[in-house]
Amino acid sequence: MATTSAIPPKKIHASNRHIDEEQRYALALEASEFGVWDWDLSSDIIYYSPVWMKSIGISNSDIETSPKFWFDRVHPEDLDKLQLEIKAYLKGKNDHFKCEYRIRHQKGYDRVMLSQGIAIRDKNGKAIRFVGTQVDITEEKREDDRLIHDAMHDILTDLPNRALFMDRLRQAILSRVNFAVLYMDIDHFKDVNDTLGHEAGDELLGIIARRIEGACRAGDTIARLGGDEFCVLVTYITKGHEVESLAVRILQDVAKPIIIDEKEITPNLSIGIALGSSSSHTQPQEVLKDADIALYEAKGKGRGRYKFFHDELMTERNSLNSLEMDLRKAIQKEEISIYYQPIVSLKTGQIVGLESLLRWQHPKRGLLPADEFMTLAEDRKLIVPLGEWAVPASYKQLKDLQNLFPNTLPPYLAINLSNPQILDPNFLNKINELVKTGDINPASIQFEIGERVIIADLINAEKTIMALHKLGCKIALDDFGTGYTSLSYLHRFPFDAVKLDQSLLQKMNSNQKIFAVIKGLIFFAKSLDINVIAEGVESKQELDTLLQLGCDSAQGYYFSKPLPFEEIKEMVSQKNCMSFFKKNPSD
Ligand code: C2E
Ligand code: CA
Ligand code: CA
Repeated sequence: MATTSAIPPKKIHASNRHIDEEQRYALALEASEFGVWDWDLSSDIIYYSPVWMKSIGISNSDIETSPKFWFDRVHPEDLDKLQLEIKAYLKGKNDHFKCEYRIRHQKGYDRVMLSQGIAIRDKNGKAIRFVGTQVDITEEKREDDRLIHDAMHDILTDLPNRALFMDRLRQAILSRVNFAVLYMDIDHFKDVNDTLGHEAGDELLGIIARRIEGACRAGDTIARLGGDEFCVLVTYITKGHEVESLAVRILQDVAKPIIIDEKEITPNLSIGIALGSSSSHTQPQEVLKDADIALYEAKGKGRGRYKFFHDELMTERNSLNSLEMDLRKAIQKEEISIYYQPIVSLKTGQIVGLESLLRWQHPKRGLLPADEFMTLAEDRKLIVPLGEWAVPASYKQLKDLQNLFPNTLPPYLAINLSNPQILDPNFLNKINELVKTGDINPASIQFEIGERVIIADLINAEKTIMALHKLGCKIALDDFGTGYTSLSYLHRFPFDAVKLDQSLLQKMNSNQKIFAVIKGLIFFAKSLDINVIAEGVESKQELDTLLQLGCDSAQGYYFSKPLPFEEIKEMVSQKNCMSFFKKNPSD
């Protein structure tokens, strides 16, 4: 492709005329692949080279010698700019001449040209001749336009991307009109990806993009923000129900069955709507956040529906935000503590493990179990710093136990890991460091990773599990039976233990099928040398069934609730000599 710098932009004076002439022709020659023009300003006659003429579709180059011929063909919108640039340069106001403009080709369409030129001046500096090149840069421009388009659009759906959407939203706020943002995501999209594969997932995204587009008006901005999230910006809203009927239309249009890979899918969306104007919002992020809160509400209310953002949601958000702020400070204020729940061997009745479970002594809300702040901690990525504090802290207490009871086998420490921890690149480094410095003995730790955590990011979960296993730590599959993993996972990962979820135990004695599943699991796990731990054992009846099935160990209120370290210390000292069963022979 031609470069666009045929003639260097510098002034030439008539006093150096012989050199200038040579330079000019040398340059013109060099630039022979470009169109050359040579304008005698005193006679107002211009010479157009054959390439110049050819670039606009004219083969006979001798016929035209007037500047008018050139300017008549320049696009009316670009003509002023070109003439002003020429004038400014010739008058010496600009020290070079360079201008892009559209020019009409003989065949009727426009080409984009770049002209550069230099003037030959008399000794007073007056331009007497003006020479330059004209290069066709239409293709380069197209390429530039394509790059700009690509930077602002999503490749898969060709819809505007987040950057362009935020820009349009910013303009809407600045232009002081009423607008609405509909923030949507596809219900259970992950299931499609997981069961039918990513190609099917992509196909579904494309179809849904077109359906959303079809439901909108020409002036609306429909964007894909990433993953399965789409956003629509509607401007110039006069009545709220316009937006409501758009939301209904989108929900209806999207929810028509689709055949992908010979399987019928009926996709559904959830939509969160935020209404806005320049008085309600100053930043696009604020609008998106409101719409996101409404989307969360729509999903919580059963998916496949829309919800408007309203002030009560704001209050809820503020209350969550204040809980978040409290939680951020809770570690420093030493409000977080670690409770331990014993894991009991069903053969000996002795404590073989201690599961570490976080508790928060909230100044106003009292003692909160992990369940009440864990989702928030995970959502806001606070679980990472919490874990960074809790892992070494709980290990230190385990060491204290070892020092206190040097003659008994210390229980292993069970530590829960959630998704943000597994995704955090520093997590493994930290554990590595603790092992290397001898601060923890990996063989005495069993990391518990829930089925949901594994499914949410199979690749990273596998990486982390393998790395922890290689370090010598034990790994347990937590919450087994909550419906997602299959027995094949027991083959795929190097699990040392699998923890039966409490929901299974509760139905074990009343539901034959579940009884058979647990029986099968225990049999299968034993054949792979994997321990089975039952969680949430609350009754003697449950315990008896587990004993009958040959389950290895169990934990639950039947044995003990999670307890603070001081109480656990007591219990370990007694129960490790005594066994739970011997203490309660009548049970
Ligand atoms: P999990 O790992 O399934 O822990 C068991 C949960 O069941 C605990 O709730 C425990 O107190 C409760 N539990 C134990 N025995 C019984 C019983 O017999 N009956 C009933 N109804 N419940 C019982 P908790 O402490 O609220 O913890 C909830 C979840 O929070 C844990 O579920 C775990 O996933 C997570 N979690 C707790 N501590 C940590 C932590 O340090 N890091 C991470 N990543 N997650 C944690
Ligand atoms: Ca657990
Ligand atoms: Ca569990």
